Amino acid sequence: MKTLDDFNFENKKALIRVDFNVPLNENFEVTDATRILSAKPTIIKIIEDEGSCILMSHLGRPKGIQDRFSLCHIVKTVEDIIGVEVIFVSDCIGHKAETASANLESGQILLLENLRFHDEEKKGDVKFAEHLSKLADIYVNDAFGTAHRAHASTTVIAQFFRKQKCFGYLLAKEIKSIQKVMQTGEKPVLAILGGAKVSSKITIIKNILDKVDHLIIGGGMTFTFVKAQGGGIGDSICEDDKMDLALEILKQAKAKNVQIHLPLDVVAANAFSNDAETQIVDVFSIPDGWQGLDIGPKAIENFHNIVMQSKTILWNGPLGVFEMKNFAKGTIALGSSIAEATKNGAFSLVGGGDSVAAVKQFGFQDKVSYVSTGGGAMLESLEGKTLPGIAAILEE
Ligand code: AMP
Repeated sequence: MKTLDDFNFENKKALIRVDFNVPLNENFEVTDATRILSAKPTIIKIIEDEGSCILMSHLGRPKGIQDRFSLCHIVKTVEDIIGVEVIFVSDCIGHKAETASANLESGQILLLENLRFHDEEKKGDVKFAEHLSKLADIYVNDAFGTAHRAHASTTVIAQFFRKQKCFGYLLAKEIKSIQKVMQTGEKPVLAILGGAKVSSKITIIKNILDKVDHLIIGGGMTFTFVKAQGGGIGDSICEDDKMDLALEILKQAKAKNVQIHLPLDVVAANAFSNDAETQIVDVFSIPDGWQGLDIGPKAIENFHNIVMQSKTILWNGPLGVFEMKNFAKGTIALGSSIAEATKNGAFSLVGGGDSVAAVKQFGFQDKVSYVSTGGGAMLESLEGKTLPGIAAILEE
């Protein structure tokens, strides 16, 4: 796997696909600069080598050219974070971009305008990718968030660089973290899958059964598994058409010697509301009119013990409706168990969607081994798919 360290960028122009799709407020100020900070090590390495950086990214989902999606709004933030002046060019291909790139000197940074101002980007247009490729000597992909898309700048462009292409530090770190869980993780390996629906996680569950020793199932998914086994789930969320699948998963897990753990008890509420009345009940006997919205105290303790025995931990999806304060306890408790296990030497990866939001909201992001920067890309990796953006760098 070629990374930045295999190249010396002295007097070279690097075209870096970054993910600067950052949130902006109504005054066009960056409200969360995590993605820019994540790309910093790659940019600094190239500048310190005395090369130059041409940064390209998308921002939002523009329809044609729309000023509110211009990357000009983020120039100041990028300058503050990297500590180097950023030259901005108002198109990503064509005469302006070519001139700006030709004039670029070692140590300088050029930021191209939003790639998605051209429809060709999302279409994976080969000619558009070729135009982009003309701007630089080496292609670096450091955008994990878009690595599952076969877009012009994330995948198609790589063919024009043959051996002159590599992963940036961020993308390399994402790949290594996934490998650590899915291939080389120290046993026992534990996966914790939460979230709302079985249907959105089914491919992950199937793929993961070959990799893990323990699987904790929490969140809304729980109730499809409980009802399928004859339990009473009251008004809890359930996908009746996925009950056969749930039984099949339980059977497969047994055959593969994977222990599946459901929550022993739940916090049941008489309405889907933070102000609802609540009671703790056994997960198999939720009364009619009540719905499970969080895991209960016995489940918290049981999951804690399983987490503490594990050496490799993957967490995807909250264990309850964590957006409501009264149903966030299980998700917070799990975060703190994983933090403790990590402190004791376990490797922990949090990835994909709402669990990342939960980890950040409750302050665990520096207490786990790695928090992934890619939602869809992480989910597809866990499903066992090869991401096109990664495959394109590995191809000769
Ligand atoms: P996902 O995007 O599939 O990871 O699902 C995340 C969503 O699942 C969050 O918005 C949670 O509120 C929701 N969720 C978690 N537990 C439950 C539950 N017991 N009942 C209903 N929704 C839940």
